[in-house]
Amino acid sequence: MNLLLLGPPGAGKGTQAQRLMARFDIPQLSTGDMLRAAVAEGSALGQLAKSIMEAGDLVPDDLMIDLISERISQADCANGFILDGFPRTTAQAEALDTMLGDRTMSLDKVVSISVDEDGLVERIIGRYSCVDCGAGYHDTFQQPKSEGICDQCGGKKFSRRKDDNRETVLSRLNTYHQQTAPIIPHYEADGRLVQVDGMAEISAVGDAIMALLENSRDD
Ligand code: ADP
Ligand code: ADP
Ligand code: ZN
Repeated sequence: MNLLLLGPPGAGKGTQAQRLMARFDIPQLSTGDMLRAAVAEGSALGQLAKSIMEAGDLVPDDLMIDLISERISQADCANGFILDGFPRTTAQAEALDTMLGDRTMSLDKVVSISVDEDGLVERIIGRYSCVDCGAGYHDTFQQPKSEGICDQCGGKKFSRRKDDNRETVLSRLNTYHQQTAPIIPHYEADGRLVQVDGMAEISAVGDAIMALLENSRDD
């Protein structure tokens, strides 16, 4: 199953990708996570991306296309993958069509998570994750079962993203409207796009996505 999750920053793409990954045993391809790893490593890509990410702008298309093209060729993607955060521009969407076509692959479903934008700043400002396993949490909406201990791995160290501050969030939302929302019609035409209500509780959003994927299997 090859899936793409679409939605503005804070919509719940990463949260739902983690649930889908566990359910279908396919990898989450998060370009944001890949870039943060590159920044931490100090690679050439990371050095270039750092200030762009802190400003809430987009890393150039050619670099992102190369990054995902290489990732999709790896063996663990043969049975499927969940794209989270790519494509973010029309050029990236067109390049994705080409790279999948070249590998005789295609997207089975594009899940658009729709949200009321007034709540997104609160979601993003309260977001944090486990340093050891990457599991995502929120100060009020998704707390670990035992305070200070990761549900997934028992880790006790957590971190917040540098770009998860009020000012950068507003810039990222603006970038989303200018450059990413215009790709939605690209997927609307052929019936692959399905919408879910991203304002529901995390588990309800997950259930709605599963139901849509199950239905589509009968198509
Ligand atoms: P994205 O990957 O789309 O930027 P995340 O999945 O990281 O978004 O979610 C942003 C924050 O909001 C996280 O802290 C997450 O725990 C929380 N969150 C995700 N989905 C919901 C939801 N349906 N209701 C409330 N909070 C949510
Ligand atoms: P969120 O899900 O909260 O929007 P991501 O983790 O997906 O954030 O992305 C963080 C930042 O990484 C973006 O603001 C952008 O600077 C950069 N980035 C991630 N994916 C892409 C992409 N496909 N094209 C260009 N820049 C990207
Ligand atoms: Zn953990």
